[in-house]
Amino acid sequence: MSIGNRIKTLNKSATQKKASAYARSLIEASLDPLIIISAEGKITDLNNATEKATGYTHEELVGSAFSDYFTEPDKARAIYKLVYEKGFVTDYSLAICHKDGHVTDVLCNASVCRNQRGEVEGVLAAARDVTEQKKASKKHHARLEYISHYDVLTNLPNRTLLADRLSQDILKSERKHTVLAVAFLDLDNFKVVNDTYGHHVGDELLIIVSRRMEDALRKEDTLARIGGDEFIAVLANLEKTENYQPVLERLRLAVSKPITTGGIVFHLSVSIGVTLYSQDGAGADMLMRRADQAMYRAKQAGKNRYYLFDSACDDATNIQRESLDDISAALDRREFVLFYQPKVNMASGEVVGAEGLIRWQHPVRGLVPPLDFLPIVEDHAISLDVGEWVIDTALSQISQWRSIGISLPISVNISAYQLQHDNFVTRLTALLAAHPDVSPHDLELEVLETSALRDISQVSATMHACRELGVHFALDDFGTGYSPLTYFKRLPASAIKLDRHFVRDMLDDRYDLAIIEGVIHLAEAFEREVIAEGVETIEHGTALLQLGCKLAQGYCIAKPMPANDMPAWLNDWKPDDAWRIADVE
Ligand code: C2E
Ligand code: CA
Ligand code: CA
Repeated sequence: MSIGNRIKTLNKSATQKKASAYARSLIEASLDPLIIISAEGKITDLNNATEKATGYTHEELVGSAFSDYFTEPDKARAIYKLVYEKGFVTDYSLAICHKDGHVTDVLCNASVCRNQRGEVEGVLAAARDVTEQKKASKKHHARLEYISHYDVLTNLPNRTLLADRLSQDILKSERKHTVLAVAFLDLDNFKVVNDTYGHHVGDELLIIVSRRMEDALRKEDTLARIGGDEFIAVLANLEKTENYQPVLERLRLAVSKPITTGGIVFHLSVSIGVTLYSQDGAGADMLMRRADQAMYRAKQAGKNRYYLFDSACDDATNIQRESLDDISAALDRREFVLFYQPKVNMASGEVVGAEGLIRWQHPVRGLVPPLDFLPIVEDHAISLDVGEWVIDTALSQISQWRSIGISLPISVNISAYQLQHDNFVTRLTALLAAHPDVSPHDLELEVLETSALRDISQVSATMHACRELGVHFALDDFGTGYSPLTYFKRLPASAIKLDRHFVRDMLDDRYDLAIIEGVIHLAEAFEREVIAEGVETIEHGTALLQLGCKLAQGYCIAKPMPANDMPAWLNDWKPDDAWRIADVE
């Protein structure tokens, strides 16, 4: 070798040395374990953090198989292979097993290392300790799972779990030809107790009464608390129709036995409405509604009694048959309208969109609210036509507003039935194509009744396909319905809506407040937006801002209004000063 070349080589190796010293210092600077793995899967280099995480020394680690230090060596090797195929991987969950046996949950990132010729020489892998986050989120999840199915005050099932049990009981009663009764119970004058003695006494009485009522039921029955002093009992598996009577009588007595607490003797009573399941097509919701109506009869008749639903309460079945045709005719006659309710950022005052809510402009009955007619068409093909009309109308509205200089995204509600229909994506594509001037980004779909979503991977695929079209999703009424957290995790929704019932009671009911806080944290963790609906007062808005929820919708901002009223409202609206202050705090 010529002298010149020799000097070059020497210089080069000096530079290399410097470079590798620099690389070492970088590796050591990392608080996360870092290792370099050879093509054979052996550790060739590591930093101090790796020694700490595994409990082995540098000497012990170098030359050993990297996969030995993970609780799932096969998975570790599979990920390693993937790095070779893809060039890198991010955020793979693994667990490192320490010499002393304790385990650290980590998220691994890794990429291939290349030499100067561009050939792969090994893999650089980094692991981040996520044990604490995992623990916290597990606890959080378990807690949320619990509060989404049980009433925290009485530990009775809540409305969600009740809906689930009731549907199962209905199937069972059909299969076994047994009688099923649904009873709606409402404590008489309970508000007086709360107002006179305060909520803590009220809570105590509710706990005692719940326990007594539970004791009065049979094993196969379900007792749920569905609101303040309202309960529903499902009496399953009755052999004869009249067998519900003694059970209700026991419930009535259980409540009316005096309760002594804090030196005061309370005499409570309960009004009960009951309905029997028959094969007339009435599902769980309808049964509860009938029982509710019958309960009103019991109240009217003087309280402290039960009343069996009969056609005098409301001949719901007849109404149902008539109205299916009526609704289809109303669609033809263009009697439906969409009202719009603004959605705002309470802190900045920005109006971020509007929710389209359907109404029936009935020639005789006037403006009919959606819950008076939508349940009738629920699960019938005609609800698909109504649903498409809603999307189409919203798209037209977006473009009409745009033509007068208003750019406002619109969200519409879609039922689980509609979303799960085979041709949903095709139909949505066609509707969007019919409005080429509207950007699909301006349309959001609020998925109702996540509880009714059956095949979650199919729904998730549908939603992904719609996202490809540019359309966003929100999960509506979050916290009600049976919405396990896995749904939340797997469904590509960019926003969730806090159900208005929680929002309504959040200032008085710490359990509702806990649910709201939980959902807000969860949304943060999963990087979803949260919007609160049913914000009825400035105080509600302030409390939500303090919890970190800025987006809201509700009567204290605006009631749903006809499309034509929106421009003037947009001109006039300003957020309350209290909200700006709350946001700064
Ligand atoms: P939702 O999607 O949860 O809609 C919000 C409901 O809360 C609306 O009732 C709205 O008027 C009401 N609301 C808004 N702000 C407040 C408030 O501050 N306090 C209270 N107490 N209520 C407030 P609306 O319009 O009667 O609609 C009821 C439900 O009917 C909707 O609940 C949704 O589930 C369904 N719905 C409405 N429009 C459609 C539609 O086009 N398609 C389908 N499938 N369902 C619809
Ligand atoms: Ca909605
Ligand atoms: Ca809602």
